[in-house]
Parts: sequence; structure tokens; C-alpha cells
Amino acid sequence: MKTRRTILVEVMATLILASAFWWTIISRHPVTSTVVSPNSIVVIDPGHGGRDPGAIGITGVWEKQVNLAVSLALSSDLRERGVTVYLTRASDQAVNRSGPYSVKNDLLARSRFAKQHHATLFITIHSNIEPTRTMQGPIVYYDTHSAASSQLAITVSQSIHSLMGYNRPPRPINQLVLEEAEVPAVNIEIGFLSHSRDSAQLITPSYQRTLAQAIASGLIQYLHQRGYGP
Ligand SMILES: [Zn+2]
Repeated sequence: MKTRRTILVEVMATLILASAFWWTIISRHPVTSTVVSPNSIVVIDPGHGGRDPGAIGITGVWEKQVNLAVSLALSSDLRERGVTVYLTRASDQAVNRSGPYSVKNDLLARSRFAKQHHATLFITIHSNIEPTRTMQGPIVYYDTHSAASSQLAITVSQSIHSLMGYNRPPRPINQLVLEEAEVPAVNIEIGFLSHSRDSAQLITPSYQRTLAQAIASGLIQYLHQRGYGP
């Protein structure tokens, strides 16, 4: 007949063996996330280019140059974080290079590029001007017809607010290039070329990198919220 002590020892031994067994199973099969994380593709569109300079700043800087510099900084930042990026243009040229040039055809070529490259998100980069020369800082515009674009704009605006201090709510806009992209799409107006400080800052690589970092963080946050990798 077993004593209480013997039974207790046997129970303890069984428990130890059972936990060792389960530990072996668990350690061989570590718990992994079951969330599917497809890789995301971000299409970045530096506004204007080629014969279209866009706005001309008070310092004489052309919008197309500033847009391209910030777009290139943004693409580097995103690629470093593992995101696949395509640029509609990576030099000073129009996007629609077949047939006669028109602003509308060039805009449609940008949206078409996003579709052809299976974009998850479409980001067009522009710079503002306004007559009072007092407004400054980035503003994010989103496609009026798209709730996803509105959420994307909110996330990017919040990131710009937390990393750069500019607290500007996103604004809806009717823009062909956003509408035709057919994916969450925003137009990020990166600053005012009519404002002396913005105009001076926007041409410096360090400010371009800061802007790129704030935008990239917002985009990554939005993608992660929707289960996208990396
Ligand atoms: Zn523009």
C-alpha cells in the first residue's frame, strides 16, 4: 500500500515529466503569428517634372525639384525599412513620355503607373504656394471619395505632428490623380514655397530626410494596422 508521501512524490514526478514533455513540444514549435503579412508596394509620385516646373518659390526654387528630392529621400527611407517602392519619375522629366504632352495625360500616366505596379498605396508629393506668404508646414490631402485614403491621411498627419510638431488636420480634395489610382491615395503638400523659412528648409537634405522619416513612419503605421508587412 502506498503511503501519502509516495503518492505525493509520484504526482510531483508526473507533473514534472508532463511539463518537460510540453516544453519540448512548445520549444520545437514556437508560437508564430497567424496574421498573413503580404508585402506592401508603395508608389511615390514626385509632382510635376520636365517642362512642368509646378510652383515657383520666393527664392526662385522650382517645385518639381523639391518634390523630387523629398520623394527620393522618402523612397530611401521606406526601402531601408523593407518596403517595395516604385517612383513614377526619378529624374527631371514628365511621366507620360509617349505622344503629345498635356497636364491631364501626365496625371493619368501617374495613376496608370500605380495600377501597373500593383500599388498598395499611392503617394503624390507636391509643394504649396499662397499669396499671404504666412502659411507654412506640410498638409496632407486625401481623395474625397475614399474612407481608406482619409484614414491614411489621418495617420500620416499624426506622424508629422508627433515627429515635426506641425498640427494640421488632413483635408479632402477632388484630384484626378488620386481618384484614378484606385487605392488609398494622398497628396502630401510638403510645405509652402511662398514662406521664407519653408522655402529655405525644403532645399536642405537634412530637412528633406526629417520630412521623409515622418511620412514613412505614418505610412508604415497605416500598413501594419492593415496586416501588411514587412
Ligand atoms: Zn504641385
